[in-house]
Amino acid sequence: MDCVFCKIIEGEIPSEKVYEDEDFLVIKDIRPVAPVHLLVLYKKHVGKIHQLSEEDRKKLSKVFELIAKVAEKSGILESGYRVVVNNGPDAGQEVDHIHFHVIGGKKLGKIA
Ligand code: 5GP
Ligand code: ZN
Repeated sequence: MDCVFCKIIEGEIPSEKVYEDEDFLVIKDIRPVAPVHLLVLYKKHVGKIHQLSEEDRKKLSKVFELIAKVAEKSGILESGYRVVVNNGPDAGQEVDHIHFHVIGGKKLGKIA
């Protein structure tokens, strides 16, 4: 499949891995917008929120536990961070594969 995140998950494209389990891979964003900029990738290729199955949604309910874990590992648990899901053209979604940005390590501006 011609999807950059699938290729990263399959190990065909290198990435800086921060965490991995059965359903998720967390990597550093290649163009960070803040000192900490992680991408939580759902391992299964699903493009958009409305394309998630019930099983996908159940698996994704664990994402918050995971985000807290990697935030702690990155030292931004208490200082705070932003979690962003860009979904579709108006949100500027660049990679059509569900992922969560975890952004922190500095004071962030307003969201839009
Ligand atoms: P989106 O706009 O789809 O929410 O975000 C896609 C993100 O993926 C962007 O922040 C971009 O910098 C990041 N990205 C795109 N290609 C790669 C890559 O090959 N490796 C890594 N680590 N990040 C990537
Ligand atoms: Zn994909």
